[in-house]
Amino acid sequence: MSDEYALLGHPVSHSRSPFIHARFADQTGEDLHYRALDIRPGDFPDALESLRARGVKGANVTVPFKLEAFALADDLTERARDAGAVNTLSFASSGPDSGPTIGPTIGDNTDGVGLLRDLTVNHGVELAARSVLLIGAGGAARGVLGPLLGEHPARVVVVNRTPARALQLAERFAPLGQICAWSFSALAGERFDLIINASAASMAGELPPLPEGLLAGGACCYDLMYAASATPFVTWARARGAAQALDGIGMLVEQAAESFHCWRGVRPRTAPVIAALTAERGR
Ligand code: NDP
Repeated sequence: MSDEYALLGHPVSHSRSPFIHARFADQTGEDLHYRALDIRPGDFPDALESLRARGVKGANVTVPFKLEAFALADDLTERARDAGAVNTLSFASSGPDSGPTIGPTIGDNTDGVGLLRDLTVNHGVELAARSVLLIGAGGAARGVLGPLLGEHPARVVVVNRTPARALQLAERFAPLGQICAWSFSALAGERFDLIINASAASMAGELPPLPEGLLAGGACCYDLMYAASATPFVTWARARGAAQALDGIGMLVEQAAESFHCWRGVRPRTAPVIAALTAERGR
């Protein structure tokens, strides 16, 4: 019987993760089945227990359960601990050939490495000594900050709809690099080489309140959200002449590849899967 994996979130009907993991399995010859499960808020702990009892090997966790997954994991990787959020759970500690024994639940976070690979490897974006604006202070922002600061940008400015949460993040990540929290209004007159929208504003069809003139020459804008058509933030970036206006489809595939590697010990190729998803959107 195939090893089972799942995506836990709410909602998940739009998710392309089952498609991505099916492509990875085909490509690598790994025998696994991955499906998306819509979990009602409040039901996450029970859902986790039921998956473990059924011998499911691992799960991805998405909105709104990343902080709950962090709290419920028995053990955490360093990057999950840094992030304070978990998007990847492994239920058996002894690898894909282990039997049905229930091991500890290990929480990991592959969002940051996924974003970084998409930015730097797939799109050639330089981060060292660059000025970065990060919009949002939720689970995704927490996941990407550690790896981002590890690239030694000149500064990372965090802004968020609820300013206190941006401040908390800046304090939490201050030991890892140059980071500060500002209000949206304080951005007037500033320039950034990279603007990352890690807020859920695009999910609501909204745009964060960004002043004009934020883009330095050659700036890259990256929306973590992905959609069939351009997100409001990608449209905003294109209209202001961003050198690159990207959405999160590449990050989605790269973070999935990192999860796949954690679970199976095999690293799938991401380029053909990104190409397939991009072609699907063009139809
Ligand atoms: P969370 O719910 O943890 O955090 C949401 C964040 O967005 C908070 O900072 C929140 O601010 C802010 N926000 C929500 N609605 C609005 C709005 N209307 N205007 C401005 N800010 C808003 O979500 P995640 O951090 O997990 O996800 C954020 C986004 O990143 C989502 O769009 C998600 O799909 C995407 N994502 C994409 C990934 C990929 O692989 N491409 C991976 C992970 C996430 P406040 O603190 O005020 O509530």
